[in-house]
Amino acid sequence: MTTSPIALAIHGGCGTLPKAEMTETEWTEAKADLAASLRAGWAVLSKGGSAVDAVEAAVLVMENSPHFNAGHGAAFNADGEHELDASIMDGETLAAGALCGVKRIRNPIGAAKVLMRRGDPLFLAGTAADSFAESEGLDMVENEYFSTERRRKNLSSMKIRELVGTMSEASEAEKHGTVGAVALDAQGHLAAATSTGGYTNKPAGRVGDSPIIGAGTYARDGRCAVSGTGKGEYFIRYCVGHEIASLMAYAGLSLEEATARAIAELTKHRIGAGLVAIGADGSIVAPYNSAGMYRGWVTPDGFIHVATHGDVEVAGQLEAAA
Ligand code: ASP
Repeated sequence: MTTSPIALAIHGGCGTLPKAEMTETEWTEAKADLAASLRAGWAVLSKGGSAVDAVEAAVLVMENSPHFNAGHGAAFNADGEHELDASIMDGETLAAGALCGVKRIRNPIGAAKVLMRRGDPLFLAGTAADSFAESEGLDMVENEYFSTERRRKNLSSMKIRELVGTMSEASEAEKHGTVGAVALDAQGHLAAATSTGGYTNKPAGRVGDSPIIGAGTYARDGRCAVSGTGKGEYFIRYCVGHEIASLMAYAGLSLEEATARAIAELTKHRIGAGLVAIGADGSIVAPYNSAGMYRGWVTPDGFIHVATHGDVEVAGQLEAAA
């Protein structure tokens, strides 16, 4: 029985390039992949599937796309390797699964969900997380699978910036990115999922906010589901996801007010930051403080919306919510 409106929103990171720095074809492809991600998540929700399955499906599409910093297309660390972080959270039960520093799991978000289903432990790191996924029969790849030419160039330019002392002038796109999804299902349950390669030239072993429940990923029925993107060290300090849920629950702020306040706090540190969030009533927000943020959502009438910078495009219509 359906009792709730369904809702879905995604982001592909706030490390969006200035418009002139990508070809028209690349922009079109990136937006097509955002739309494909929304289709995948909406297909789950519109058939009465769970918010958890919907956010996993949406994130998986973006992990497989070369255009976003997660899965294939992830950033390189300072050693020229990829170390991926991901997490997923079920707002109904508060169950969660998180992985950090993984190097061989083709789709870290899928592994995070399997870990969540196992129940305990909640969080696995590095080789133990890779081995867990392998023992569960998930698709494993060589680390090079995640590499793309664009990310290799980003690494070279960050290394040069490090040498000549121009790190502070690096664009958000050179530095980082992430993908994430939030959903509300027909049973009224919320979920959030986030997956990332972290930031370019990060020290080996560095872990960001994306796999930290309460920081880059948070979902709690009756409150909200949040997935963040931006300088993870600050999302962790402010426990951004949990902070937003708490501002709503204890200070009576609306989703819009709570998320705006969180972004305003982060902006004080002159860092790029953005997020997508869904409230228990299905309301959607996607605030960010950078030049752009890959993002998208589906309205209850089934219209797909995608955006990279200020303009929001309608990219088709899906089966409307039942
Ligand atoms: N939040 C990610 C991290 O710090 C990066 C990003 O979203 O841009 O690992």
